Amino acid sequence: MKAQCQCGLLSVDAAGPSLAVAMCHCTACQRRTGHPYGVLAYYPAAALTIAGEATRYVRTADSGAEFETFFCPCCGSTVYARAGKHPELIGVAWARSRTRPARRRSGRCGRRRSTTGSPRPTRSRTSHVE
Ligand SMILES: [Zn+2]
Ligand SMILES: [Zn+2]
Repeated sequence: MKAQCQCGLLSVDAAGPSLAVAMCHCTACQRRTGHPYGVLAYYPAAALTIAGEATRYVRTADSGAEFETFFCPCCGSTVYARAGKHPELIGVAWARSRTRPARRRSGRCGRRRSTTGSPRPTRSRTSHVE
């Protein structure tokens, strides 16, 4: 899938299916997105091609781990994020893409769930614990 910011200066191209989709309604994700939920599709960092310049913002999660978000310095849209617990994964802002990730998994922001189990996706509405 391809995701981009409002103005198009910052974009991410993801090859292959996402490993997990995290849907989170914690206060930080609401503030980050301006929406009731933040949805990030997680990919291995190596599967992503990032084009454009991003500004980085780091917050400390309740667990003490860092959570980084990367946004366009021009229009301010968050395009991708990385949880300190899983630095090998990058979460791409789902709503910024025109296509849906190939696989949907429930989860919490910054966390990755096992990809085994029921093929039917379920959605978690609990707060994340980072
Ligand atoms: Zn932009
Ligand atoms: Zn969250």
